[in-house]
Amino acid sequence: MWCVPPEILCDDHLRGEHAEHHQLVGTILNHPHGEAIAAGHAEEGNIDTTRVEDRHDELAEEMERRGFDHESPLEYDGPTFGLGAIDVDHNRSDLLNRCNKCRERATKA
Ligand SMILES: [Zn+2]
Ligand SMILES: [Zn+2]
Repeated sequence: MWCVPPEILCDDHLRGEHAEHHQLVGTILNHPHGEAIAAGHAEEGNIDTTRVEDRHDELAEEMERRGFDHESPLEYDGPTFGLGAIDVDHNRSDLLNRCNKCRERATKA
């Protein structure tokens, strides 16, 4: 969960972050060690399940704006992991360091 403004994500990172939301919820609810996996991600500041629904919807909206198909609503009412764990400023500089396309979008935005 980058949680940066969706418009600065390149297409790959937009679709990737969106897919990870579905994977995360699937893992927590269905994987035998899902809660331990989620706790690990939370400890690294990668997820905040209290934001997972809203963030998913934000990403889905941006995908639709770009003309990508989105037919996968996401609901989560499981246990909380990573409340307040995400450092958006840190994620933003990390992402822009890693990805030229995101950096280009961010400088235009
Ligand atoms: Zn979705
Ligand atoms: Zn990118």
